[in-house]
Amino acid sequence: MIKELRALIGDDSRVVAGADIEAKFLTDTLGRLKASADALVFALTTDEVSRVMRYACENNIPVTPRGAGTNLVGSTVPLRGGIILDVSRMNRILEVDEETFTAVVEPGVVLQDFQAHVEAMGLMYPPDPGEKTATIGGNIATNAGGMRAVKYGVTRDFVRGLEVVLADGTVITAGSKNVKDASGLQLRQLFIGSEGTLCVITKCILRLVPKPETSLSVLVPFRDLRSAIRTVHAILSANANPTAVEFIERSVVELGERFTGVTFPCPEAQAYILLTFDGTAFEVRANAERVREVVMARGAIDYLPFEDPKEAAEIWKVRGCLVKAVEAVSEQEPVDLVVPINKSAEYIECVHQVEAETGMRMIAFGHAGDGNVHLCIIRGGRSDAQWKEELDRVMRSLYAKAYALGGLTSGEHGVGIAKQPYFFANSDPALLKVMRSVKTALDPKHVLNDHISYLE
Ligand SMILES: Cc1cc2nc3c(=O)[nH]c(=O)nc-3n(C[C@H](O)[C@H](O)[C@H](O)COP(=O)(O)OP(=O)(O)OC[C@H]3O[C@@H](n4cnc5c(N)ncnc54)[C@H](O)[C@@H]3O)c2cc1C
Repeated sequence: MIKELRALIGDDSRVVAGADIEAKFLTDTLGRLKASADALVFALTTDEVSRVMRYACENNIPVTPRGAGTNLVGSTVPLRGGIILDVSRMNRILEVDEETFTAVVEPGVVLQDFQAHVEAMGLMYPPDPGEKTATIGGNIATNAGGMRAVKYGVTRDFVRGLEVVLADGTVITAGSKNVKDASGLQLRQLFIGSEGTLCVITKCILRLVPKPETSLSVLVPFRDLRSAIRTVHAILSANANPTAVEFIERSVVELGERFTGVTFPCPEAQAYILLTFDGTAFEVRANAERVREVVMARGAIDYLPFEDPKEAAEIWKVRGCLVKAVEAVSEQEPVDLVVPINKSAEYIECVHQVEAETGMRMIAFGHAGDGNVHLCIIRGGRSDAQWKEELDRVMRSLYAKAYALGGLTSGEHGVGIAKQPYFFANSDPALLKVMRSVKTALDPKHVLNDHISYLE
């Protein structure tokens, strides 16, 4: 296989043989699920991706596409061996078109580089997931969400078109720079969030917006979590258009404080809501004032605006570090389920109940404005066998409760390998069957990421 791949690529240094593949390419960012592969290929062009896919398809070789490998669900673990197809070196920003508010980029462009590039031109790419070193292709393949989803939506809302390579090597472009598109099936929507199961994304046409004139972050401490989360609906009803609405419990803030060295104000609070507003200076002031009235009328302990961007960045540093802060203390299993926004408080209470019943510690925080609850389930001193058994029991219970409230397995991280059992257990078999049919129609031999496709 290596000989053939080297002949296809024409550059031996970009085709690494199985035994020489660095461990980080055989896993995800958590590094707990691992496997081995026969080859790692670093593609530089669409044509190379196409040639590799044609070869893999003709020879029934599994392929795992890969961006930066920052996923938390094992989706880049090459469980069936074969080829890891890394597109992170396809990292050119090909065009920023200020007249149509669009950009065309290769899939390996790193999110933070792209954001900085367009912001320097007075534009903004709003999707803002926590891990800024992820690639744009990976963000699209997982339909990444993040902090600004309340106002702007998720990655899906900023993808106008995609060039993709299908499993048999065929190259197609689905979508364009146009704002509207009622021209046949919207295949790009199918590819967004498909976690490398349907295609390899090789070019991305993205939507941009003008960069907001200013932004303001506000921290609102509450005596208890229930009042904090219940206030979120009132904030969303106030027509104040917040960019982000996050909740964090005090016990979680303490972990973040220890990890970053930043001190949160009002330590007597049990929970905080952290908001941002962006827009013109006038809009931001007016919207923040509306929210101040709402939260103070609902029993907030205080309303703390951060006029100094440096101070605001420090506060956001605590929110942004939470997954890593928890990892620094203990192995943990991240959960990223989503419930309807009016069920967030009820769901967090369920989590506390499961915590009390099982003695398993859980750290909850998340995007309160969109019902996306992040949980870190803490391993502590459990033995391997005990952790495996107890974790599975707790996870089954947590996902069943989320589905009972109308929720879903993942709001933004994807299903990957790690969340498959819970996704399958809670999804309608008829729905899974349709997903499987779509997979088979586009990838009849199931060469692409079949380890995370919709098993019979
Ligand atoms: C600290 C931390 C915070 C995070 N915060 C968030 C958050 O707020 N919101 C969020 O949504 N996620 C978050 N994530 C998860 C992760 O960063 C995202 O899932 C991200 O979109 C993955 O991008 P990547 O380039 O690393 O993709 P990878 O991890 O390399 O791949 C992810 C999946 O996409 C597929 N894939 C990658 N590139 C392509 C391509 N070009 N074509 C087809 N398939 C492809 C892979 O096969 C795999 O299935 C966080 C992760 C960490 C470590």
